[in-house]
Amino acid sequence: MPEEEPERLISEDGLRLDGRKPDEMRPLKIKAGVLKRADGSAYVELGANRIVAAVYGPRELHPRHKQKPDRAVVRFRYNMAPFSVDERKRPGPDRRSIEISKLSKEALEPAIFTEYYPRTAIDIFVEVLQADAGTRCAGITAASVALADAGIEMRDLVAACAAGKVDGHIVLDPMYYEDGYGEADVPLAMMPKEGEITLLQMDGDMTPEEFKKAVKLAKKGCKIVYKEQRRALKRKYGEE
Ligand code: ADP
Repeated sequence: MPEEEPERLISEDGLRLDGRKPDEMRPLKIKAGVLKRADGSAYVELGANRIVAAVYGPRELHPRHKQKPDRAVVRFRYNMAPFSVDERKRPGPDRRSIEISKLSKEALEPAIFTEYYPRTAIDIFVEVLQADAGTRCAGITAASVALADAGIEMRDLVAACAAGKVDGHIVLDPMYYEDGYGEADVPLAMMPKEGEITLLQMDGDMTPEEFKKAVKLAKKGCKIVYKEQRRALKRKYGEE
């Protein structure tokens, strides 16, 4: 956390610390196919977040007793590099990364036609190189593009974005200070084509009305993310 709590997170004219309006997302860049050795990969920059996703598979799953005869097993590992945060993060899994890995897998699995790939594993790795809040969402966004880049059949891409409550305002895509000193955080992932939500969390305090407003705003963010995901894939593969 920043040592000094900022006096206010939203200025009198309604702007945030980085100059954004409440409903504005940080600059987002997505690139598909950045790693030679993975079957699919993607790189995402969301504000100061820097994230790489790599997908391996579908490939034969060992040991064989872990195979599912009728579908692929999806595995997800979220990892933060020791240098991704201000104070060196101890390498290796911790409670937080284990939880994020689990919910990210559950956010993506409904989009994958796992029944097309019986007895296989689809392995997804997300590496956070630089973190500035919202990494679970940016990781899911990157992983979804990496899955498409690997040629894995999906119902739709999964786009993810968070909304939050900061100084009493509902804002899109909170950054580190807002996440740390704000009142609440609502990460959301969805398949935008059908509008199906695959991840919804809430951390902090909000009234039911504020929560509804945050969900609506996060969905709006997902639409922006979705557009960028599709553009990244089109840039690599040409028109659909
Ligand atoms: P998310 O990154 O999905 O918002 P959290 O709300 O758990 O997940 O974390 C918010 C932010 O806090 C992270 O993006 C990162 O910038 C920071 N953070 C998380 N874990 C650590 C850590 N071990 N050390 C320092 N900062 C961390």
